Amino acid sequence: MPLSPDQQAEIDSLRAQPRQTLRAVSEGMEAHLYKAVPVLDHGFVRVIDYMGDDAAICQAARVSYGRGTKSVQNDEGLIRYLMRHWHSTPFEMCEVKLHVKLPVFVARQWIRHRTANVNEYSARYSILDREFYIPQPDALAAQSVINNQGRGEALSGEEAARVLEWLKADAGRAYDHYEAMIGDTAPDGSAQAGLARELARMNLPANIYTQWYWKVDLHNLFHFLRLRADAHAQYEIRVYADAICEMVKDWVPAAYAAFEDYRMGGVTLSATGVACLRRMLAGEAVTQETSGMSKGEWREFEGVWG
Ligand SMILES: Cc1cc2nc3c(=O)[nH]c(=O)nc-3n(C[C@H](O)[C@H](O)[C@H](O)COP(=O)(O)OP(=O)(O)OC[C@H]3O[C@@H](n4cnc5c(N)ncnc54)[C@H](O)[C@@H]3O)c2cc1C
Repeated sequence: MPLSPDQQAEIDSLRAQPRQTLRAVSEGMEAHLYKAVPVLDHGFVRVIDYMGDDAAICQAARVSYGRGTKSVQNDEGLIRYLMRHWHSTPFEMCEVKLHVKLPVFVARQWIRHRTANVNEYSARYSILDREFYIPQPDALAAQSVINNQGRGEALSGEEAARVLEWLKADAGRAYDHYEAMIGDTAPDGSAQAGLARELARMNLPANIYTQWYWKVDLHNLFHFLRLRADAHAQYEIRVYADAICEMVKDWVPAAYAAFEDYRMGGVTLSATGVACLRRMLAGEAVTQETSGMSKGEWREFEGVWG
């Protein structure tokens, strides 16, 4: 379970004390505030705070004295224009602060996104919980034969059972030793000094959970989501990105719709690709050999146009 009853009670008490404010409020985001959305087996993501809404993007773009809103239609048009033309700074006027609980190997991919502010749970100061990510059977997949950076079909039968058993047993044994090393009692019952937590943690596997607060502006969050909610991203980070997408959709619906249309659903074409498309539209039967593209480029091009 991702949250203890005490932690849930703290969240409930925060949500029970609404305050009046003059600041921009997104009703959609207010519904998410503080609540933990479960991800993977022990993880979650929850919104701690946010700044701005769709109108704040327009307000910044127009450098307005008021809310910056003209009409919903007008604002949506402006937001789509900004997204289409990579006029990104108005999106930076919105920010969100998330609390994320995630396996360490996912955190390593996540932290590569440098344009955020992070504060991580200290395993020098605190003792990590005995919580490890163990994939569901359908996520326990074989190495992909076509993509070195991907996975194929789910393992089955004895192999799946053996792998699951090793994952659980190795994690459990590593944690037993972690506890034994930091404890003040030796296995024979005598007193011991206890190894520093900052050293004992090096024995723990990468599927143990960590937590952090992660604050980012909307422009850089869209960049993160574009890469990590994409089918090419590893499943274990993609499920976090998918959960965040649902929040952003409610927070800034117009900006999210433009992002989905131009970034998630859109494609980028090279000049060679544009030339090929023009030739195809003119009726020419273009092949990879006559396209001027490499085999990989052509495969991706065909993947888009069929
Ligand atoms: C499917 C996938 C596979 C990947 N595989 C690998 C891998 O095998 N090995 C690996 O090491 N990484 C890998 N990565 C990580 C990837 O290379 C990027 O590090 C990561 O996606 C963060 O992207 P970013 O730098 O654009 O984001 P951010 O750090 O958020 O930066 C956003 C933008 O700000 C600018 N910026 C930020 N900091 C700097 C800087 N110091 N100098 C110049 N410009 C800066 C850049 O324009 C950048 O695009 C992978 C990512 C994905 C999505």
